[in-house]
Amino acid sequence: MPECDVAVVGAGPAGLLLACVLARRGVSVIVLEKTSGRDDRSRAIGIHPPGVAALSTAGVADAFRAEALALTGGTVTSRGRVLADLDFAPGQEVLTLPQARTQALLADRLADLAPGALRTGVLVRNVLPEGHAARALIERDGREGEVSARRIVIADGVHSGIRDVLAFGWRRVPGEADYTMLDVGGAAGDDRARLHLEPGGVVESFPLPGGGRRWVIRADAPFRSTAAFADMVRQRTGEDIGDTGDALPQSFRAAQHRAGRLVFGPLVLLGDAAHEISPIGGQGMNLAWIAACRLAAALTGPGDREAALEAYARVSLRAAATAQRRARFNMAMGAPMGAARRSARDVAIRTLARGGSGRRLLGTMTMSGL
Ligand SMILES: Cc1cc2nc3c(=O)[nH]c(=O)nc-3n(C[C@H](O)[C@H](O)[C@H](O)COP(=O)(O)OP(=O)(O)OC[C@H]3O[C@@H](n4cnc5c(N)ncnc54)[C@H](O)[C@@H]3O)c2cc1C
Repeated sequence: MPECDVAVVGAGPAGLLLACVLARRGVSVIVLEKTSGRDDRSRAIGIHPPGVAALSTAGVADAFRAEALALTGGTVTSRGRVLADLDFAPGQEVLTLPQARTQALLADRLADLAPGALRTGVLVRNVLPEGHAARALIERDGREGEVSARRIVIADGVHSGIRDVLAFGWRRVPGEADYTMLDVGGAAGDDRARLHLEPGGVVESFPLPGGGRRWVIRADAPFRSTAAFADMVRQRTGEDIGDTGDALPQSFRAAQHRAGRLVFGPLVLLGDAAHEISPIGGQGMNLAWIAACRLAAALTGPGDREAALEAYARVSLRAAATAQRRARFNMAMGAPMGAARRSARDVAIRTLARGGSGRRLLGTMTMSGL
């Protein structure tokens, strides 16, 4: 007899949200996480309307809204001229909260719903499908063991070792570039996102709850110091990023991949393990949550479970492909470019931002239809 209905590998946002939704529906769930401390990495901050809906399905939206900052809209400029000034419709705002806080809220929620379900300090070495169940081979405190479940959901992130061992496939998708970001504290300012499309490459800035902003620069090489990062922002936009305290710039390569399949017998891929979306546009975590809700419905709904899981895979891979195309477009708009391409791009953005197409553009930016 398996120990639980569903074992989830990885307590990132995808695994935690899935576990909360399943626990709310009476499914016995265990989450196995290799680390035991807090994950303070600075990653996702932007949560779009479908992401907020997923948090609501997990029963954590009110706690999230109490801490998050709602953006009123965004402004796109190029060499000081405004190309687009878009306001979010009421109820369709993008909210910001650092990923570490969002994950802590999800972990607290899971502790309420299913005390003891989250097992930290547990490294999953491998998972083995066995007919209508599966086993996770684990290591904890240097001792080996195993956890058995009817299904194992593999949500161990973009570098998933398990995905690669089990030959789910992992195909590169176009859309790749280098960026550096810095989260700076400070006084509360305006609540709008700002995209500066400059000749040397984009500078993005997003307000954070409690004051301060996240700055993201497209730059091929990492910065040697915080001062060099601040200089580059000033040089490209004329803006002063303010007191940086002891914050350090963090460089990352935006890339995109998709798994070939998401279901293999009792094993299911979820989140970044299933699809890597460029962070430019802030979709990866939101997409993982949309998929987690879809997966929870497939695992708990009436009817043919295997058909429901195949539908989960098909629809989630299609949504990932759409998100990847949108992210690639965002990256192309912010690439360094010469004068001729720049003026064509600026005209295109001005046109896209007007009237009905402006509303469609906002929908695309806020993950509508995914
Ligand atoms: C710079 C940056 C900015 C971003 N900004 C945004 C944004 O604004 N909005 C947005 O939606 N997305 C954003 N993203 C993407 C977002 O961070 C990811 O999509 C999200 O973290 C994916 O969640 P996940 O749970 O699938 O994977 P992860 O967050 O990677 O979690 C995987 C978990 O599995 C654990 N694990 C791994 N291997 C094992 C194992 N063998 N055994 C047990 N546990 C294991 C890990 O320790 C980890 O806790 C950003 C990403 C980056 C890099």
